[in-house]
Amino acid sequence: MATATPPRLDFRSDTRTLPDARMRAAMAGARVGDDVYGDDPTVALLEETVAGLLGTEAALLMPSGTMANLVAPLAAAGPPGSPPPRVITGADTHMAFLEADGLRRFGGVELVAVPQRPDGLPDPDALTALLAAGAEGRPTVVCLENTSMMRSGNALDAAATRAVADLAHRYGAHFHLDGARLANAAVALGVPPAELAGPADSVSFSVSKGLGGPVGGLLCGTREYLAHARESRTWLGGSLHQAGIVAAPALVALGRLPELAADHEKAAALADGLASVPGAEVMRPPRPTNMVMARLAGLAADDCATRLAEHGVRVLPLPNGHVRFVAHRSHDMISVHAAVRAVAAVAATLPARPGRQPNEPSPAGEGSVTPMEEA
Ligand SMILES: *Cc1c(COP(=O)(O)O)cnc(C)c1O
Repeated sequence: MATATPPRLDFRSDTRTLPDARMRAAMAGARVGDDVYGDDPTVALLEETVAGLLGTEAALLMPSGTMANLVAPLAAAGPPGSPPPRVITGADTHMAFLEADGLRRFGGVELVAVPQRPDGLPDPDALTALLAAGAEGRPTVVCLENTSMMRSGNALDAAATRAVADLAHRYGAHFHLDGARLANAAVALGVPPAELAGPADSVSFSVSKGLGGPVGGLLCGTREYLAHARESRTWLGGSLHQAGIVAAPALVALGRLPELAADHEKAAALADGLASVPGAEVMRPPRPTNMVMARLAGLAADDCATRLAEHGVRVLPLPNGHVRFVAHRSHDMISVHAAVRAVAAVAATLPARPGRQPNEPSPAGEGSVTPMEEA
């Protein structure tokens, strides 16, 4: 039987938080209606609050960020029955990894992956070439992820976002922002989330990542766009009746948005701690948020994750050979130190690298930092 790791030492994802007493009380006391009939007051309040936060005309609650990303391109194509769009997104994004199959099977959507730069932005030449080639009468949706999941959570600023939006718009494409962790980007950059969302035609926003809500994603955009999104949500099976039960803890989560800064401090302390472990390589993005990606020289990501789990620390092995640590609300500095100690303990069992004898004490600060440009 799988044993649950206490959230305190579970670094796999910022989804690994549990609803606290305040959230549970909010759920228990939530005023609800039937969101399928459009009269759940708590859902309405959540949608208004998120639209206000992102500066969009409106927002629509979805059961998950995944469904928000599925619906986003379908709604961009227009009413049901419209020709399915072509989606262009970075090859190392949640949409390319986890939405491509759903888009193809349920939406007839072709997803085209483009290489990404070290900061997470799509390669501009590859994107331009695809946009210029056109899609045989089908609309095109360009997607950008902020923060960038596989670039160690790098935050992209409004100017970088606007450059991609302008390029997409020049070719008549819809620009969708997967802002599952847009709140982290905004806190890290010290700007309002609306500034980062401004250039987008639609935005996905998650309340269940670092914000700590139990479930839910919101798709944001114009009222007209969201009317199409509501139809797609229905036929995908994403309409929830007394959805106020999940909107209520999401409202609690939104009230805690500034607290994400503490997660970023923990992640920075973790990155510093790991960088001092001999044999550890830490990826350092230009604008870090709540993630740390690292690897131990000579140890595959899967093996590294298994070995760390033996020390009670859970991390996510990634296809790029690194393991991912995500700092979240259940962690404190004691958790961070425990993680660094676990990595040091695993590193100490690995064969010595050239120039060092197996039992020779390692000089302090022997671990290395890989700037993202070389990662
Ligand atoms: C988590 C995540 C999603 C999906 O959100 P779920 O609510 O887990 O379905 C989408 N995009 C990104 C970048 C994410 O990190």
